[in-house]
Amino acid sequence: MVPEVAGSDPVGRPSWIKSPQFSENLYMSAPWDQPDFDDHEGVHFFSDARTGLKAIVAIHSSFRGPAGGGTRYWNYASSADAVRDALRLSKGMSYKNAMAGLNMGGGKAVILADNARPKSPELLAAFARSIDSLAGRYITAQDVGMSQDDLTSVGQTTPYVAGLIPESGKAGGDPGPSTALGVYLGVKAAAHQALGSDDLRGVRIAVQGLGSVGGGVAHYLAAEGAQLILADVDEARAAELAQKLGGRTETPEQILNIEADILSPCALGAVFNEKSIGQLRVKAIAGGANNQLARPEDAQRLFETGIIYAPDYVINAGGIINVALQYLDDASTDDVKAKLEEIPLRLSEIWAASAEQNLPPSVVADAMARKLIGRA
Ligand code: NAD
Repeated sequence: MVPEVAGSDPVGRPSWIKSPQFSENLYMSAPWDQPDFDDHEGVHFFSDARTGLKAIVAIHSSFRGPAGGGTRYWNYASSADAVRDALRLSKGMSYKNAMAGLNMGGGKAVILADNARPKSPELLAAFARSIDSLAGRYITAQDVGMSQDDLTSVGQTTPYVAGLIPESGKAGGDPGPSTALGVYLGVKAAAHQALGSDDLRGVRIAVQGLGSVGGGVAHYLAAEGAQLILADVDEARAAELAQKLGGRTETPEQILNIEADILSPCALGAVFNEKSIGQLRVKAIAGGANNQLARPEDAQRLFETGIIYAPDYVINAGGIINVALQYLDDASTDDVKAKLEEIPLRLSEIWAASAEQNLPPSVVADAMARKLIGRA
């Protein structure tokens, strides 16, 4: 029997919510009370006491097909933060998959890392059983904190996995190289839009972050004769790549405000805020980092500078294209390349609508995406 608390509740909530056993905070952390809730179709909580698994799978939309999106293994400050991340990231996947023209909805899984219970094969198997219980409504893939080996391990228990190591000539595997190729094609589209030609010879391009995506982009750009300016917090990596590909290095602090034709942010998110936008000295931004705008209002701020901006989830969809085509169609690498060619076309469509409607490209992209998932 739950104890009653004396006094009436002005908003008419059941009295047990006000009992000492149910704190207001816990009540407020229900997914549909979160500001990031967007009519998600389902938010599933899984746990396994034996292995310490705690995981959340958020399915935002299955309008276009099974909800696809990676699994993030992360040490969250609180469970509420994990719910918030799952809600936000799964919605992002709905938009990304729709704009990439994939027959996939949007979903995301997060595993709450626990320092006391390190990731183990048993925990991954328990996680895989959780995915399996959703019977194909959610298809998982690689994301932050999950390696290719982890994905292989999950794939031993459930078939609902995209991005497994493929046979030669087939789609799938590490999403990085396809993301890099898609971003490179997006950089060319941005050059065409901002400079009047997609010929990159002599075009000054600053790349921030030289990992799987940024390093790959730099290789493509160098092969086309672009003048590279490279920055990474790992300065030795930047110096080595500049030596190998030609070009010069810049400090990670300065790369965002140097004078160049195009800036390609391929490191962290939230790079564009009120301060950094005011210091930009480029004509276009086209990079692979996720969530580049720090706040929604930065879209308008950036638009007012006149800088051409490639919305992040449109230009960086190459990785999900690669793994989704493996899962959906058992496609070839040639099929993936053909699909990646649609990224610059989509960007041009966005920029045309942005000019016509006098709205920031990211706002236009969101509206297009919502239409594509039946939520216009
Ligand atoms: P990565 O870890 O391989 O590389 C990131 C690089 O950025 C590292 O070399 C790191 O040292 C550097 N870095 C970190 N902070 C920096 C800073 N402040 N200034 C300069 N360099 C910095 O990661 P990745 O897979 O290349 O991903 C890069 C970005 O692209 C991330 O935002 C990721 O979410 C996004 N993304 C990646 C993929 C993919 O397929 N890998 C797909 C979509 C989006």
